[in-house]
Amino acid sequence: MPTLGCPSHCRFCFRKGHKVQHLSQNEADVALDYIRNDDSIRDVIITGGEPLFLGDEELEFWVSSVRAIEHVQIIRITSRAPIYVPSRITQALVDMLAEHRPIYMIFSFVHPRELTPELEKGIRMMADAGIIMLQQGPLLRGINDDPEILRELYERLAAIQVLPYYAIWGISSPGTEHFMVDGQRASEIMAALENKTSGFCVPHLITIARGDKVRMMGWSPDKAAAHLKNRPRTGVSTPVSTSILHAAPHK
Ligand code: SF4
Repeated sequence: MPTLGCPSHCRFCFRKGHKVQHLSQNEADVALDYIRNDDSIRDVIITGGEPLFLGDEELEFWVSSVRAIEHVQIIRITSRAPIYVPSRITQALVDMLAEHRPIYMIFSFVHPRELTPELEKGIRMMADAGIIMLQQGPLLRGINDDPEILRELYERLAAIQVLPYYAIWGISSPGTEHFMVDGQRASEIMAALENKTSGFCVPHLITIARGDKVRMMGWSPDKAAAHLKNRPRTGVSTPVSTSILHAAPHK
């Protein structure tokens, strides 16, 4: 998390209240050294906050520094800002990212209305440059808890080479409880998509437990209890900036 800064103000954001921080050069060095010194790390997610809130130069620092680490195979960048500001996807940004392929760009769409012609243009530029794109977004009651809305979203995304990856259930924070979709309903929504569209247009239903993404593989009250309350933390944290690490990732 190079920064917890984000120019967006999503009503459902569960980061509200976290102090916005930006890693200092010293903290960045510690984080990169941590990755360099552990050759079991093969997949690195550059997230935030909003990583595209960084200027191209600073983003390239992160991408090129991670790419230079031999044992890192995959770099993911998670972002939602272009949904609000499509002009953030410039040819210069795309060219820079393409130089460090393979790059997985993970978008966080919520509703098909967010897929505007301007944004489609930017996404096509990324696709043409060989950047792999995936979708992961939350299920929100009253917004997208409807198989037809999600089917439209996922099919339109797949048509422009953004493959649905995760549908995220079960995250809430104070003031966002009304967006929480019932677990049984979330499971039914995903089941309603099965065999109604291309297989790769049906994302995995997941939740986030103590910072780890957990595939639900079919919801049940017992599983929800186990995932959300009892599951021991298994993830590995870098020793940088405790307050940043304790902010749960949204993407
Ligand atoms: S959900 Fe993501 S894009 Fe939206 S305000 Fe929160 S950090 Fe920013």
